Amino acid sequence: MNSEIEFAQNLIDFIYDSPTAFHAVARAKEDLTKEGFMEIAEEEKWSLKKGGKYFVSKNDSALTAFVVGMGEIEENGFKIIGAHTDSPSFRIKPAPEMVVDNAYVKLNTEVYGGPILNTWMDRPLALAGRVTLRSENLLYPETRLVNINKPIMIIPNLAIHMNRDINTGIELNKQKDTLPLLAMVSEELEKDKYLLSTIASELSVECKQIIDFDLFLYEYEKGSIIGLNNEFISSSRLDDLAMVHAGIRALASTAPVQATNVMVCFDNEEVGSSTKQGADSNMLADILERITISQEKNREDFLRALSKSFMISADNAHAVHPNSPEKNDPTNKPYINKGPVIKINANQSYTTDSNSDAVYELVCEKAGVPVQKFVNRSDAKGGSTIGPISSTHLNIRSVDMGSPTLAMHSIRELGGVIDHTYVTKSFQEFYKI
Ligand SMILES: [Zn+2]
Repeated sequence: MNSEIEFAQNLIDFIYDSPTAFHAVARAKEDLTKEGFMEIAEEEKWSLKKGGKYFVSKNDSALTAFVVGMGEIEENGFKIIGAHTDSPSFRIKPAPEMVVDNAYVKLNTEVYGGPILNTWMDRPLALAGRVTLRSENLLYPETRLVNINKPIMIIPNLAIHMNRDINTGIELNKQKDTLPLLAMVSEELEKDKYLLSTIASELSVECKQIIDFDLFLYEYEKGSIIGLNNEFISSSRLDDLAMVHAGIRALASTAPVQATNVMVCFDNEEVGSSTKQGADSNMLADILERITISQEKNREDFLRALSKSFMISADNAHAVHPNSPEKNDPTNKPYINKGPVIKINANQSYTTDSNSDAVYELVCEKAGVPVQKFVNRSDAKGGSTIGPISSTHLNIRSVDMGSPTLAMHSIRELGGVIDHTYVTKSFQEFYKI
C-alpha cells in the first residue's frame, strides 16, 4: 500500500500545481521534459525520429504527447489515451469589481461548466489563469500564466437565520449568490484596480500592460489522503486531472514499441468540447496525420494507420454512493478501490462496444488489474465525455473508462488510492502492446 499512497500523493501534488487547464499543461510539459520528451510547435516543420518522444500544445491549455513507434505507422497504427485538462469553476468577467455599500469589494464571475455550486461556499478561494499582455506584434500578444496561491476570496453563505429554508434545499442564483468577496474598500487602492494591481504586481508588470485575462477561481486548500486506512483521495479536479496524470506517467514510463503511443489532453470538455483545443476539433486528427507525414508516408498510409489504431477515452466514472446506492444500475455497481470502470451506454453516450470493451478488459487482465462496469440506470440520463466527440473526427475503435469517483463536480471530489495505481498500470500495459 505504501507505494500506492506515494503515487496518490504524487497525483495530489500534480493537481495542486494545476489550478487551471493552463497550469495543468505547464506542469505536464515540465514532467515530460524531465523524462526526455522534446517540445515541438505547430508552426514548425516536423522531422520526427522513430522512438523519439515529443509533445505539442494548443492554446496553452491542451497538450498531445507521443512516442513515435519503431514499426511502420500504416501497419502498427496509434495507441491513444485521451483525457481533459479543464474542470468546472468560476471565470472572472471583464470589469469584475463590484462595490457593495461602499464597504465590500466583490468580483463578478461567470460559471464555467457544471460545478456543484453549494460546495464552493465558505471555502478560502485562490485565483489562477492566463493573462494577456501588450506586445510589439499586434497579432501575437504576450501570454503569461499567473497563480495567486493565496486565500484571497470567499463566497459566504447567508446565515441560517436569514435563510430558514437552507437545509431543505435552496437554489443559488449564479449572478447573485455565488460572487466571491475579495476585500474591504480601502483608501489606498484605486477603485477598479484591486484585482488588476494584484495581478500586475504578481507578474511584475504595470497595470496598463494587461489587456485581458482568462482567470478562474480555485480551492485554496490542497487535496489530501483520507480514510481510516488512507484509502481515499479527497481533492479538487480529480475529474479529469487524475486521468491526465495517469496517462502522462504511463506514457513517460513505457519504452518505444512498434505502434506510436499518444497521450492527448483536450481542453473544454466541461463546456461541450467545441473549441479549437477541444475534442470536437481536428486538433488530434491533424497531429496524427502530421506524425504520419513526418515518417515520409502519405494520406493513404495515415488512413491505414487509423484502421489499426485504438483509443482509450479516460474520464472519471460514478462509483456507488454509500448514502444513495439505489442511484446506480441494479446489476452494474462500481465501487471505489475495486479497479477502473468501463462505461457503457446503449445510445452511445460512451464509445464502448463489446469489441473495445474486450480489448480493455484483456489489457487489465494482463496487468493484473480488476475491472468494473458502469451503465446508467435506464431512467436516468448520465453524462458524456470526449470519446464519442473525438470519434466523430477519427473513426477508430474506442473504449470509455475512468476511475470510480464520488461527488463528481464538487469542489472536493473523492477517489480511491489503489484505483489510481490500477488505472496507471492498465495504461502502461496498453502502451506496451
Ligand atoms: Zn470529466
